[in-house]
Amino acid sequence: MTQSAWTRDGRPVDAAAIPSAEWESLKQVAQLGDFMMPCCKAPAVLKTSINGLPFFAHLSDECGTAPETKWHKAGKAAVLAALTSMGIQGCDEVPGRSPRGDKWEADVLFSVSGRTIVIELQRSYQHLRDFTRRQERYTASAVECYWLVRPQTFITLGKATSRLMLKRDFGNVFPPGGIGTGMLPELPVAMLDTEGEQLVQFGEFKTAKVPIWLAGILDGAYQYRRGSWNLG
Ligand SMILES: [Zn+2]
Repeated sequence: MTQSAWTRDGRPVDAAAIPSAEWESLKQVAQLGDFMMPCCKAPAVLKTSINGLPFFAHLSDECGTAPETKWHKAGKAAVLAALTSMGIQGCDEVPGRSPRGDKWEADVLFSVSGRTIVIELQRSYQHLRDFTRRQERYTASAVECYWLVRPQTFITLGKATSRLMLKRDFGNVFPPGGIGTGMLPELPVAMLDTEGEQLVQFGEFKTAKVPIWLAGILDGAYQYRRGSWNLG
């Protein structure tokens, strides 16, 4: 199941953005093939969970797409659908290069009032130095980059960033105010849950829907405070 899917003509849709009465009637009239699963482009069936949550599902339970790819595609669809609901045009897999010639390819890229913003989706763990290197390429290209990772990846990354921060910023003495989730000011990372209700998780039990998180990036509410990146 997934909350975001594609229409037949390639537009991203967030099921949660559709009022429930409208969703119920859409379930009646939608033809097979009107909506496609983000993971494998198979026809999506419109469903409502026991908790009243609208979602898209495969016609049969079969999906041949590997979990890695599945999470990545579901995440991209979630971000693109959220941008669409905000009236912002996002593009995926956008190539670019820094002034020094370092290449990058953005998972999702969009521009708003003179700012170029990239959302990178990282399911599996990569070394902290790879996060840093990729972040620096965007910074050198005058692009803001924000990361969404799988919860397990966040926890593993947090161990590396906490160690670095304690050593670099606190001389290895744990500060009285704590270090929040242990993230670095120069690396904005949050978690994305693509199963069930699509929520951005910031750690310490704080969550937001994807459009709220994106709005926070745009209006500056998504900030680094005492070891954590979250909305104010
Ligand atoms: Zn699939």
